[in-house]
Amino acid sequence: MRLNNYIGGSWQEAGGADYTAVLNPANGMELAQVRLSTKEDVSLAVKSAKEAQRKWALVPAPKRADFLYEIGRLMKEKKEHLSQVLTKEMGKVIEEARGEVQEGIDMALYMAGEGRRMFGETVPSELQDKFAMSVRAPIGVVGLITPWNFPVAIATWKSFPAIVAGNTFIWKPATETPMMAYEMALIFEEAGLPAGVANIVFGSGAEVGTAMIEHPDVRVISFTGSTETGRHVAETGGRHLKKVSLEMGGKNAVIVMDDADIELAVEGILWSAFGTAGQRCTACSRVIVHTDVKEELEQKLVEAMKVLSIGDGLDESVKIGPVINKKALDKIHGYVGIGKDEGAKLLAGGNILTAGKLADGHYYEPTLFTDVKWDSRLAQEEIFGPVVSLIEVSSLDEAIEVNNSVKFGLSSSIFSRDVNKVFRAQRDLDTGIVYVNAGTTGAEIHLPFGGTKGTGNGHRDSGVAALDVFTEWKSIYIDFSGKLQRAQIDTD
Ligand code: NAD
Repeated sequence: MRLNNYIGGSWQEAGGADYTAVLNPANGMELAQVRLSTKEDVSLAVKSAKEAQRKWALVPAPKRADFLYEIGRLMKEKKEHLSQVLTKEMGKVIEEARGEVQEGIDMALYMAGEGRRMFGETVPSELQDKFAMSVRAPIGVVGLITPWNFPVAIATWKSFPAIVAGNTFIWKPATETPMMAYEMALIFEEAGLPAGVANIVFGSGAEVGTAMIEHPDVRVISFTGSTETGRHVAETGGRHLKKVSLEMGGKNAVIVMDDADIELAVEGILWSAFGTAGQRCTACSRVIVHTDVKEELEQKLVEAMKVLSIGDGLDESVKIGPVINKKALDKIHGYVGIGKDEGAKLLAGGNILTAGKLADGHYYEPTLFTDVKWDSRLAQEEIFGPVVSLIEVSSLDEAIEVNNSVKFGLSSSIFSRDVNKVFRAQRDLDTGIVYVNAGTTGAEIHLPFGGTKGTGNGHRDSGVAALDVFTEWKSIYIDFSGKLQRAQIDTD
């Protein structure tokens, strides 16, 4: 199977000479081939998106929303198929894949609703017989650059608000996960989305991503990926005065206080640390535990980790799938080595798994370190794999300080039954998302999603806040006095 670009409503072969193979991380089997695109392919896509946008912006928003309702309906109809492709391509276990596809469906319906809201403001004018209001205006052609770990959900968080607001888009999916983008293109086509509203260009970040950011007709770049790449995107975008929205890495922590329900905390940690094999931007990578419950938590975590089943995510009984590729596997194992060198104590895991069929894929054993120093590399850097570090603290203040000590600011969580501690924590934890008595993952699509510090640059995906990325505020003054009234002139 060879995947072609989707440009201007038709399937077009990319101009690059090279193909890349899409491999199933669970077993190394080839799933598809993709021809890499060039700068010229991007220009073609931008041209078609620009032409389409003029008409699309004039379609009433509730009518634009009708396409989203249809896209949501089709996604629902194909949910099992999409989930299976997602698991094969990305590796996450099938129940998580179904959850991710459902997020996309929810986003379609939620953003379709915005077609009948998209509120602006009407405010009194300071002058007689004058009317003042603000409206959200579309921006034009927007560029979407997405990572492999949520190949559908993140694309829907970006593309659905973009189109309901009257923009058209070029989407460059991650090179590891083009098949989900291809599946979405089929759905856009079947939903009858006018040609040129949705464009998908496959290719590398360096060639296609850069061409999108530098193209003068792409007005917004919405990026999700690593902090390293995001910085580069922001620098390049900044030079071209682009509006750049960045959602980047994380080093998220669960705080377990001395009054916590430990069983619940264990469940929350397991799910948010080892779900998606730790490859979520919101994955729990640190556990900040109060001295009085440290030993109990360690024992219970080690016990609970023993029963986690690892394997191909298509097997319904498997809880942890593979990591995305060999490079990721080596990076994770490298961090385990760093942890040992730094003097952290390995309580469980720490190995690349190669027994039987696991040797064909990229599997890492769920890993738990304790006695980790808060300022060590293990505790500060994003690993993006199933590795958790326990850090001991003796008070809530210290826990918050340790949580906030990292350069990222995506998600945090606290397990405590003391309402005073909980309220102080939700105020003082410096992340964009805070959970109480739950792990660090589990965002809902109708709330803003994003982070502070090295995780973001002030924008948000998801929720109504996503519309801020894809619209400009336009202030409109209508004078019906029949004479020239001069505002900003002090007549007193
Ligand atoms: P990545 O930064 O390697 O790639 C992300 C996207 O950027 C890909 O499409 C890639 O092709 C593209 N890209 C690479 N180089 C580029 C360049 N020079 N110019 C333009 N585009 C370029 O990230 P990844 O490995 O795909 O994803 C994992 C990272 O994403 C982790 O750091 C994770 O925390 C982060 N992430 C963040 C969020 C969030 O919402 N905060 C969500 C999911 C993932």
